Amino acid sequence: MSITRKLSAKQQRAIEILLRLKQLYPDATCSLNYETPVQLLVATILSAQCTDERVNKVTPELFRRFPDAAAIASADLSEIETLVKSTGFYRNKSKNIQGACRMIMQQYGGELPQLMEDLLKLAGVARKTANVVLANAFGINMGVTVDTHVKRLSYRLGLTEHTDPIRVERDLMKLLPQPDWENWSIRLIFHGRAVCTARKPACDRCTLADLCPSATLTQKPMLIESPELEELENEPEPAILTLESQSKPT
Ligand code: SF4
Repeated sequence: MSITRKLSAKQQRAIEILLRLKQLYPDATCSLNYETPVQLLVATILSAQCTDERVNKVTPELFRRFPDAAAIASADLSEIETLVKSTGFYRNKSKNIQGACRMIMQQYGGELPQLMEDLLKLAGVARKTANVVLANAFGINMGVTVDTHVKRLSYRLGLTEHTDPIRVERDLMKLLPQPDWENWSIRLIFHGRAVCTARKPACDRCTLADLCPSATLTQKPMLIESPELEELENEPEPAILTLESQSKPT
C-alpha cells in the first residue's frame, strides 16, 4: 500500500535546498577518473586529505601499471608507494589499497562486492568511501557521503546539530529522498568550495541564503567560527524518505 507521508518543515526546506543546488550545479558526477569499480575504490582511498585533481594526476600511470585487483594485490608495495606519493599519507594509502585488493581477490573473486557490510571489511574503507563507491560504481544509494564540506554546510544550513559524520549522515538520510543521497553530497561539496567556504562563507551571493539559518551570521559569527567547526576543517575526511507527495526533482 502506498503511504503518503506529510513532510516536516525541515524536510521541505532540505528538498528546496536540493532543488536549488540542482539548478546551480546541473552536473553532479563524481570528479574522480576511473574505469572499473575497483579503480574507483582505489581513487577514493587516495582522495582522503587530497584533491580529486591530484588523484586524477597519479591514477593514469597507477592504473596503467596495475589495472585491476589482481595486479595491485601482487604488486611490489614500494612501486605503488612511489606512484601515489604525491597524494600524501602514501604509505598508509598504499598499504590499504593493496590490503583491500588482496581481500577482493581472496574473498570476492577479484570483483568489488556490492554490499555495504562487505565493503566495510576492506582495508581503508569506512562509510564515506563505501557510499561513494556504491553510488557511483553501482548506482546504489546506501547512505549520504559526508566529507568535511558536507559536514560544514549541513550544519550551517541547520539540517543537523551534529558534527560526527555518522550522525550527520543519519540526519540527512531522514531529510532527503534516497535517490538523491549521493548527488546531494556532490553538489554540497561544489557549493562548499565555490560559495560557503570554511573561513569566509559568501552569504551575500548565496542562493540558499533565504533558506539558511546561518545566513545572518555575519552579525552572529559564533556558529561559523565555533572551535568545533574550525577543528572539522582540519580533518581529512535510519529511516528512508519516500517523497510521494513531492514533485520529484530530476
Ligand atoms: S547563506 Fe551563508 S552560511 Fe548559509 S549556505 Fe549560504 S554561504 Fe553558507
